[in-house]
Amino acid sequence: MNISIVGTGYVGLTTGVCLAWLGHEVTCVDTDASKIEALSRGESPIYEPFLPDLMAAARPRLSFQTSYADAIAAADVVFIAVGTPSTQDGRPDLRYLASAAQASAEHLSEKFTVVVNKSTVPIGSGNWVESLIADAWSRTHGQKANGHYAIASNPEFLREGSAIHDTLYPDRIVIGADNPRALEILQRLYRPILDQSFSAPAFLPRPESVTAVPLVSADLASAELIKYAANAFLALKISYINEIGALAERVGADIGHIARGIGLDARIGPRFLQPGIGWGGSCFAKDTAALVATAAEYGLDMRIVEAARDVNRRQRQVVVDRLLTELKILKGRTIGILGLAFKPETDDLRDAPAVDIIRGLVQRGCRVKVHDPVALQRFRREQPGLDVTSCSSAELVAEDADALVLATEWAAYRDLEWAQLRGAMRNPLVIDGRNHLDRSLLEALGFRYVSIPSAGYVMPRARSAAA
Ligand code: NAD
Repeated sequence: MNISIVGTGYVGLTTGVCLAWLGHEVTCVDTDASKIEALSRGESPIYEPFLPDLMAAARPRLSFQTSYADAIAAADVVFIAVGTPSTQDGRPDLRYLASAAQASAEHLSEKFTVVVNKSTVPIGSGNWVESLIADAWSRTHGQKANGHYAIASNPEFLREGSAIHDTLYPDRIVIGADNPRALEILQRLYRPILDQSFSAPAFLPRPESVTAVPLVSADLASAELIKYAANAFLALKISYINEIGALAERVGADIGHIARGIGLDARIGPRFLQPGIGWGGSCFAKDTAALVATAAEYGLDMRIVEAARDVNRRQRQVVVDRLLTELKILKGRTIGILGLAFKPETDDLRDAPAVDIIRGLVQRGCRVKVHDPVALQRFRREQPGLDVTSCSSAELVAEDADALVLATEWAAYRDLEWAQLRGAMRNPLVIDGRNHLDRSLLEALGFRYVSIPSAGYVMPRARSAAA
């Protein structure tokens, strides 16, 4: 099929590259000319494992451009995957969606096209996009559209850091539309993934457990709500374990053992029960805020979701409070931060806990040194106002530090030469915000080791456990 992807960010680019790998002809459109230039040179503008490899492998069926004209007219399916960031009051900012929908509509041809919302959008957005497209179509064609297009929703569940894996081997695919022809086209498009009949890339083999992928085919509103409900549930699972962690700390219990003890219950499951400084990233904060705001429009209080948001905010402050308790005075102290991205294997800094923690420390007069294996450059670009020292290695961060805070659970941090770091530090305090480090090793080396919340037992980290 001919596919157009509007918005070539984490979701759009991954979707486009994977669909091209399946054999579809894909054109990616983005308003950011520098992004399109980089992509046309074969460079990925984001750090995402296996993305450059799959981009290179699918290159003959992939093109990138800033103009909608050719891309949309030939498309059987147009995916809209633009950003939907939060506004001040928690509602998503739908400006990008509106402009993508209108610009696409102006170039839709007489052939039947399915316009798919892949962006996470509030319930009812499908209908709203339909009305925008109808108006733009009438303006451009001088007549009302008559069955030339249909609107669908296809929410995205990929996780940054394993985006390609999650797209080729998803837990499920959700499609929503009120038009049966649109549903049929989307099923056909995804057939190779549903049946797992495509040939797996050599660098990302098909997991043995993945033989077929379930399809949830629903109406528009249900598909839109599935996305929010799923993200809110995952967010509250994380906040739940952190809330239990706060109590565990008071009563002298170990949250690591507790998380394992409850996670082995098949009804609960171990994933998203990692205690620590909480969730971050582009989705959970904005999607939970949007869910609360939508519910409010219908006169409903989403108290469980609001509580999950409160607990998550508190976790970031806990780090600063703990440093204050340990060091007594923060002004003038040098604090090293290991990890900036909101999770490992990505350079995404949106709503990263590390950034809030750094802000809190700078406000209290600390000198802050930071390191991240891939997100340093993006951090300097996106946070030019934060007065911190960027270091090219964890060893440089440790030099003369009064404490180290681990904010992102990069595997490499566990394997650092901790004895060397101990020697370089002014004061051997480690705050482990992700329950990631080897406590017994660090204590044997003479570190004061504090985890958030406090835990001795470190759960083995499933690859899929990150938010
Ligand atoms: P992103 O910010 O990485 O990418 C959005 C892209 O859209 C940018 O490249 C931007 O230049 C482009 N854009 C904006 N307006 C445009 C327009 N009018 N025409 C063409 N391009 C335009 O965003 P993302 O992280 O890929 O998220 C996209 C959507 O997917 C959001 O709604 C998000 O909530 C949802 N989502 C994201 C993830 C994730 O992990 N990032 C996961 C699931 C769902």
